[in-house]
Amino acid sequence: MHVEVAAALPAATPAPAGDLDARAKRVAEQAARHADAVDREGRFPAEAVAALKAERLFGIQVPRSLGGEGASMSEIAELCAVLGRACSAAAMVFAMHHIKLASLVTHGLDSAWHCTLMERIAAEQMLIASSTTEAGIGGDLRNSLCAVEVEGDTFRLTKEASVISYGAQADLILATARRHKEAATSDQVLVALLADQITLERTSVWDTLGMRGTCSDGFLLKAEGLPVAQVLQKPFAEIAAQSMLAASHLLWGSVWFGISSYAVDRARAFVQAEARKKPGQVPPGALRLAEAANELQAMKSTVVAGLARYEAAKGDPDALSAIGFSIMLNNVKTTVSVQAVDIVQRALSVVGIMGYKNGTPFSLGRQLRDVLSAPLMINNDRILSNTANLLLVQKGSGKLLSA
Ligand SMILES: Cc1cc2nc3c(=O)[nH]c(=O)nc-3n(C[C@H](O)[C@H](O)[C@H](O)COP(=O)(O)OP(=O)(O)OC[C@H]3O[C@@H](n4cnc5c(N)ncnc54)[C@H](O)[C@@H]3O)c2cc1C
Repeated sequence: MHVEVAAALPAATPAPAGDLDARAKRVAEQAARHADAVDREGRFPAEAVAALKAERLFGIQVPRSLGGEGASMSEIAELCAVLGRACSAAAMVFAMHHIKLASLVTHGLDSAWHCTLMERIAAEQMLIASSTTEAGIGGDLRNSLCAVEVEGDTFRLTKEASVISYGAQADLILATARRHKEAATSDQVLVALLADQITLERTSVWDTLGMRGTCSDGFLLKAEGLPVAQVLQKPFAEIAAQSMLAASHLLWGSVWFGISSYAVDRARAFVQAEARKKPGQVPPGALRLAEAANELQAMKSTVVAGLARYEAAKGDPDALSAIGFSIMLNNVKTTVSVQAVDIVQRALSVVGIMGYKNGTPFSLGRQLRDVLSAPLMINNDRILSNTANLLLVQKGSGKLLSA
């Protein structure tokens, strides 16, 4: 089946009123209102996603020349943190969409097919999902078993995709696969698949401890007779190193910062209320709060420094592919994912039973369950072992203000 990427694009719609922060805050209000129901029912955060589309926040990273707003990674990270305070699942959907879009924006500009796709993403606010995880490979992003099978100018692909967040709701899936049937498992490409071009047969249901609203079910993904132009020609190894690694670790980290900062705010409000009850006395939880605030600041510094390094390296493939840059990004992920869990736990110990109970102004159960996914989402051990390999050949500079 051939499907044209776009026959006619809708006329450009102007961005809604207010700056990006104002638009994200309006989405966050919607997301917060439904966050408990999304978690309890393990359902897609449909209200938040509708609000993201209404605020046209799915297209902001697309270059202005293609109908977007040319938003930077730092601007998107800020929005991830705002949403993370309201609903972790909605924030993660937003982050994952922009991680995928970063690969298109960084590596798709020399492909007419992918440029038209980006115009559609901005115009129609299409939602992008990711399929890297595969049965038999697990979270090993840099290997695939499934392969693109080319026949003439079309291809077919069958993938046992064991986790695709919001796969059933996405308009587009970017999937990794081997370049061809004889290719090595590490010789991968990234393929753009429109929802109406593929079949998805559900193979597992996402009934999890936390992040329940990402609806990350397993699917047997099948595509047939699609134009070869939909395969990004650049090796996935370069896409991973130059855009996906940075976008994943920095935007995930920003979501986790949002969750953690919400927890610390709850703990601060609790301690302040205690202090008002007994003037002149420092409540016992204040010391734990100080520790949590201390760690939150360290977490923020790590994410912000990573964003600054990324913005400085952006557009320079050598800098983005440098060993030191990869190690820095790996360290951001492994550090902040552990800090996020620790901070929410500390906040919970400050508010005590009021945080452990659901339905109080200080409840932190949902945030704790959600944030426990952070060290597992590409397992920290897997990332650390990658860093260990890189360290075997890295030359350290020992400088404070540069790599
Ligand atoms: C909320 C959420 C959303 C997700 N959404 C998506 C999505 O949209 N698309 C997608 O493709 N995937 C998604 N994933 C999956 C994710 O990206 C990882 O693939 C997955 O979390 C890894 O699962 P795993 O622990 O079974 O696999 P593995 O990474 O294979 O790890 C299994 C075990 O092996 C150990 N291990 C593996 N390799 C090493 C190593 N080299 N050194 C030491 N120990 C090692 C780990 O410690 C771990 O205990 C999502 C995950 C989460 C939590």
